[in-house]
Amino acid sequence: MTAPAPLAGQTALVTGASRGIGRAVALQLAEAGATVVVNYANSAAGAEAVVAAINASGGSAYALQADVSQEEQVNGLVATVLERSGSIDVLVNNAGITRDGLLMRMKLEDWQAVINLNLTGVFLCSRAVTRPMLKQKRGRIVNITSVVGLMGNAGQANYAAAKAGVIGFTRSSARELASRGITVNAVAPGFIATDMTKDLQAEGLLAAIPLGRYGEAEEVAGAVRFLAADPAAAYITGQVLQVDGGMLMA
Ligand code: NAP
Repeated sequence: MTAPAPLAGQTALVTGASRGIGRAVALQLAEAGATVVVNYANSAAGAEAVVAAINASGGSAYALQADVSQEEQVNGLVATVLERSGSIDVLVNNAGITRDGLLMRMKLEDWQAVINLNLTGVFLCSRAVTRPMLKQKRGRIVNITSVVGLMGNAGQANYAAAKAGVIGFTRSSARELASRGITVNAVAPGFIATDMTKDLQAEGLLAAIPLGRYGEAEEVAGAVRFLAADPAAAYITGQVLQVDGGMLMA
């Protein structure tokens, strides 16, 4: 007898799911039985390819464009999901960018772009799903932070500040929503092979990773899938789960 899919009948919204880690998360949540909303900003073709892959393997998904750093677009996105699917059971705040530079030379616009998407975007999406999740008395929110938010990184003051902010936000919202059956956790990837990291000079980095290799998007997605599912993760909230090959054993 096969076990029922843990997310059957549920709707999962994954921000920035057209590529990289978000794409892998979308595929795994669909495999777990959820109807997946594949959000993207610019890559319509990438998002449609994710939807097609899910549908081809017997799952259910649709793509919705929205810049999740923009309040009105986020509220419109969530309203559309509720209209089409009737509920939002899982939110994965994954969309993120880097605008690296040394502090002395960092432009205000690069600071703001990273904070606006990587931190304010997490706030906007979480706020927008809170009301429907409170009504349902059930929900799972998983925020993608980074080990950089825990340890800092030269040249990434904006990114580290945003990702550290996501950890504080995760713990605060976990405390606020726990009594209503909503868990909020974070996943902190280390160095994962995606578009975001493809141009990094990583020679020294490998030496700092006890497992001796970069991570795959699927390995981060596995942690998200675990945190999104009942009953496996039902008693876990406010946690930061590192998926980093042992890079930071904190
Ligand atoms: P990626 O390959 O560059 O993909 C970024 C995704 O975010 C794309 O789907 C992109 O959509 C979407 N996005 C960008 N701006 C957006 C916006 N304004 N609104 C909605 N979506 C937007 O990045 P990744 O490596 O998969 O990273 C995913 C998350 O993991 C990020 O939060 C990142 O900070 C975090 N992370 C990554 C690593 C790593 O080593 N890769 C490590 C730690 C943490 P379009 O395709 O439409 O542009």
